[in-house]
Amino acid sequence: MPQTSSSIGRRGLMLVMSSPSGAGKTTISRALLARDSGISMSVSATTRAPRPGEVDGKDYYFVSVERFHAMVENGEFLEHARVFDNFYGTPRAPVEAVLAQGRDVLFDIDWQGTQQMRQTARADLVSVFVLPPSVEELERRLHTRAQDSAEVVAKRMAKAGDEMSHWPEYDYIIVNVEVEESIARVQAILTAERLKRERQVGMHDFVTRLRGLE
Ligand code: 5GP
Repeated sequence: MPQTSSSIGRRGLMLVMSSPSGAGKTTISRALLARDSGISMSVSATTRAPRPGEVDGKDYYFVSVERFHAMVENGEFLEHARVFDNFYGTPRAPVEAVLAQGRDVLFDIDWQGTQQMRQTARADLVSVFVLPPSVEELERRLHTRAQDSAEVVAKRMAKAGDEMSHWPEYDYIIVNVEVEESIARVQAILTAERLKRERQVGMHDFVTRLRGLE
């Protein structure tokens, strides 16, 4: 039989990205999704109101507080947390379906959600924390995004320090100075993590055949 590598499959991984709001995480994740067909985004449910241009089912599932609590009760979330006076949660079923196909899933969740996922996902979890180059730049980005009111921006700035204090809990840290460079770094992380020995299902049999032992 020819010694091919086609029987080497891969366990899907869960790539979590967290950052203070405005550090550029959304831009980086969008670019990653557009350039890599092997990873798809986990769409969270939230009780926050949609921002202009946000689409239900694509950016978030926008749900009522009652519906959110019912989903919690029914065990429908992989993790959930309260962030800035709103509830956010990661629906479990779509993630499990994607991982079962050997594909990867990208999560844009805060430190609380990452802590919960770390308990359950263990070896499948790869976590990246994105930092802004400076506080001034973070504030400038939050203002130029212009989707939120001045009051919301002030609240997010006040929360940024809290969020950033969790950076030591993450596997990788990216200081987002230049967005193209940051995208390349996340792609490099993903490539290396996919190549990890323990994720390459079927490698043992492949090498056995390569060595002519079968
Ligand atoms: P935003 O309201 O700006 O879209 O998101 C606010 C914060 O909530 C961001 O830090 C984002 O990462 C976090 N977030 C979004 N979805 C989820 C989720 O499903 N779970 C958790 N724990 N955090 C989330």
